Amino acid sequence: MTFSARARIRRSAIRHNLQLIKSKAPGARVMAVIKGNAYGHGVVSVAQALEEADCLAVVRLAEARVLRRAGIVRPIALLGGILSADDLNEVLSLDLQIGVHDAQQIRWLEGHAGAPPVAWLKIDTGMNRLGIRPGDAADAIARLQTCTRELGLMTHFSCADDLENPTTRQQLSRFMALAEHFDGAVSVANSASLLGSEETLDELAEIRRQGRLWIRPGLALYGISPFSGTVGADYGLRPVMQFEATLISVKELPAGDRVGYGGTWKAERDTMLGIVAVGYADGYSRYIPTGTPVLINGRRVPVVGRVSMDLTAVDLGLDSADKVGDGVILWGDELPVEEIAEFAATIPYQLVTGITHREAPIYEE
Ligand SMILES: *Cc1c(COP(=O)(O)O)cnc(C)c1O
Repeated sequence: MTFSARARIRRSAIRHNLQLIKSKAPGARVMAVIKGNAYGHGVVSVAQALEEADCLAVVRLAEARVLRRAGIVRPIALLGGILSADDLNEVLSLDLQIGVHDAQQIRWLEGHAGAPPVAWLKIDTGMNRLGIRPGDAADAIARLQTCTRELGLMTHFSCADDLENPTTRQQLSRFMALAEHFDGAVSVANSASLLGSEETLDELAEIRRQGRLWIRPGLALYGISPFSGTVGADYGLRPVMQFEATLISVKELPAGDRVGYGGTWKAERDTMLGIVAVGYADGYSRYIPTGTPVLINGRRVPVVGRVSMDLTAVDLGLDSADKVGDGVILWGDELPVEEIAEFAATIPYQLVTGITHREAPIYEE
């Protein structure tokens, strides 16, 4: 029995999801995205479970450092790249591949005397976040080819989770115009474009047959759907995380009484009030409103009032037989995190990456 919130992480589900994603693009190599503490699932354990991925991808140098210190010797791509000339020495000593998204990073590489790293040039095909503009790509490629060991091209889609949006097609055609005149590796396709778009995968088929395609799934590895209104199971994915806690108080609540900070919820009838040992310090967001379901003894009951730092109140109903010590599921197999994200007016990415692991997660096969 545990008295506070923790995540239960199922490694077999990670492996299943990876195989399913691979089946969408046979022959493509997989850069498994494990930034953000593997989307809150625990970066080292997830890296270990992803032995079938060809490369692991993080964004921050600190994340790569943690993996190397834990003895992970597989290829790691540092998608955020270097933030200073000094970073390059550590990148090389940790044997990391790097993303390159800015002319300054190219100058640092050109000015570096030591062994050159493997690099991925990020092309900004329309997201207007990181990346070199397509018009500047030829120059950047030529320069990088003199100061890297191997060079690949990558781009990132801004609207792939909206299947009606023509932006993905435009971005892909800008990218393909470059990739077709390049003979190295090319990396494209986040979860949404792998799960949702036959068209994108068809466009990439030739590159895939040439053995040059690297896909970059993140969210789908964790069994979560990037498309609003759907859940991972709709695509054959299995949720990896169950976020659970314990009921630590059960008491009568008379009609008319208010609950929690600000007294934002008032009981309209006599009921039994449950208090769960989970709060926003555990990653159960304060934006989760009254009415959001949790699972207790197999049934859904609503959160009532404000989530506080360590505690959350639920309305158990007058006939409740729930007792102190009973388990509470905040999201998991029977209560998809996608659904909780809709209640909280956010995306599942934010909920899972927000898990703080005050209590160590439990890893299961
Ligand atoms: C996060 C990220 C991904 C993975 O995206 P998902 O939507 O989680 O699949 C891929 N590529 C880049 C550059 C990213 O930052």
